[in-house]
Amino acid sequence: MRKCKMCKEKISGRIDKIFCSNYCKSDYHVKLRRVNSLATYHIDKILHRNRSILLEILGKSAQKKKINKKILDEKKFNFSYVTSFGLNSKNKMYHYVYDFAWIKFSSNEILIVRVS
Ligand SMILES: [Zn+2]
Repeated sequence: MRKCKMCKEKISGRIDKIFCSNYCKSDYHVKLRRVNSLATYHIDKILHRNRSILLEILGKSAQKKKINKKILDEKKFNFSYVTSFGLNSKNKMYHYVYDFAWIKFSSNEILIVRVS
């Protein structure tokens, strides 16, 4: 017997139904979204802050800029959080932060790149 994923009541009707009603379906998704938001809030905040810092340094239209790592340290840029990684043709590691990336250029230099 199939039971509702939310209230555990018996389900009737279509074989692929997982909720007994629209109420249970909606309630399930509202609660899932709430739990998800609580779990991701802290990391999202760090990533958004990192992106803001890169945008602030690069400005509205520059494609790339090499800066001293100290500038990012002073702005409390968090190097531990990125949205993805990738290697370029010169085998340099791109650390993506949404539509920006940073590359360790030397021990104290960082290259910031606008990706889009
Ligand atoms: Zn239900």
